[in-house]
Formats: sequence, structure tokens, C-alpha cells
Amino acid sequence: MADFSGKTALILGGSRGIGAAIVRRFAQAEARVIFTYAGSAEAAKRLAAETGARAVQADSADRDALTAAIAAQGPIDMLVINAGTLAIGDPLTLDADAIDRMIDINVRAPYHAAVEAARRMPDGGRIIVIGSTNGDRIPFAGGAAYAMTKSAMQGMVRGLARDFGARGITVNSIQPGPTDSDMNPADGPMAEQMHSFMAVKRHIRPEEVAELTAYIAGPHAAMITGSMQTIDGGFAA
Ligand code: NDP
Repeated sequence: MADFSGKTALILGGSRGIGAAIVRRFAQAEARVIFTYAGSAEAAKRLAAETGARAVQADSADRDALTAAIAAQGPIDMLVINAGTLAIGDPLTLDADAIDRMIDINVRAPYHAAVEAARRMPDGGRIIVIGSTNGDRIPFAGGAAYAMTKSAMQGMVRGLARDFGARGITVNSIQPGPTDSDMNPADGPMAEQMHSFMAVKRHIRPEEVAELTAYIAGPHAAMITGSMQTIDGGFAA
């Protein structure tokens, strides 16, 4: 297991699901962990008590609140941008405000967060976004706007890897496929359809995504940058 002692990790959107698994994994590796949340104050409080991490309320859709929360942490060695929302359905009837909020959280926030953290990030730091296999492939109707947000992350990752590479800072995306969480429960109504697209037909466990994230954040991944690390059971194969 990577040893993150002496390192500071900030996980954006850490109160539930994949983000909470990443908080647990980084805390186990002895990082000083801070995580943000928007609405799930009780879950955040429980996770903080369980892991020793610090919970900070900051809505990623509020750029000023987000960048202030990042700046307040001082130098961050590892930034994981996990906060994300999913609005899917018929584009002709989907609420335009919900789409714009998703774009704010899934696209605008990761860009501004990455840049803000990079201002103070020590050389050799890590910026990781949680993208999606849907950035590569969207094999069902109704996912255009969500896929658009996750494809946008890919361009950001490639570009920022170039911007920060001279400092040894790596920028990568982890691209999960269907992962068991409140957003996409393993026993939810879309599970069977999701599994039909996969080579290994089950939901991914949040802990499996956290493990890959820890590897990319660790010392052995110094030469992995500008990359998309897909963990999707073959969904996009
Ligand atoms: P969940 O809905 O289960 O959890 C989302 C987490 O993000 C919560 O901790 C939530 O905090 C936080 N969050 C959401 N909006 C905001 C916001 N505006 N500001 C701060 N925090 C916020 O989702 P998952 O764990 O499933 O998803 C995590 C990431 O993984 C997302 O980016 C998602 O797109 C991506 N992903 C998920 C897949 C899946 O199948 N589950 C597949 C591929 C990618 P709070 O409750 O406090 O608001």
C-alpha cells in the first residue's frame, strides 16, 4: 500500500459513494485528508469521525466558495476531483437548469479547482479527476449532456498535464464504469442494461475505484500523465 504520510489530500465531493471510498483509502495510507461535501452533512460528519479526515462544506457549483475552500487548505499534494452529478433523460424534456448545474459541477468546477490547487501545489503533486467511461462511449439514449461533461474533462486533463508537467505534477482521469453508489445502485433499475454492455457483468465496487486512484496518486505513477485510466469491466471495450 502506498504510504501517504506527510502528504495532504483534498477530495472534492467525499461524503458518499466513490468519493467516500477514496477518503477512506487515502486516510488508511496515512494522508492528511480533507474532503468537501454539498448537502450530506450527516454522512460527512460520520465519515470524518470514522477516518479522522476533515469535512468542509463547499458546493462545487459555487466557484468562489470552491476556490476559497481550496486556497484555505494551503499546499495540497493530491487533489481528487470527484464531485459530480448525473442528469439523464430525453434531451427534449430534460430541465435546462439541471443540465447547466451539471455542467457547472462536472466541467467548470474541475477546471477552476485544478488551477486553484496548482497555484500552491508542491512539485510532484497529483491532480486526479473522476471522469467516466461515458466520456468515451455512450451506448444508450439520454446521456448526451452527461457524456459531454465527461468528454470535456478529457481535454482538460490532456491540456493541464502539459501546463504543469515541468513541475512534475501529473494530471489524470479515472474513468469508472457502472459503480455501486447512490448515483447508480447495483440493484437499480438500469443495472441489467448496464451489465449488458460490460465484459465482466457486475457493478464495480467504490473501493476498486479508490485503489486505482491511490495508485495514480502514488510515487510509482510519476510518469503517468495526461491519461484516462478506465476501470469499467469492459464497458467501452
Ligand atoms: P454519488 O451521487 O453517490 O455521490 C456524489 C458525491 O459527490 C457526494 O459525496 C456528493 O456530496 C458530492 N457532490 C455532488 N455534488 C456536489 C457539489 N455540488 N459540491 C460538492 N460535492 C458534491 O455519486 P458517485 O459516487 O457514484 O459518483 C462520484 C463521481 O464518479 C461522479 O463524478 C460521477 O460522475 C462519477 N462516476 C460514477 C459512476 C457510477 O456508476 N456511480 C460511473 C462513472 C463515473 P453531497 O451528497 O454532500 O452533496
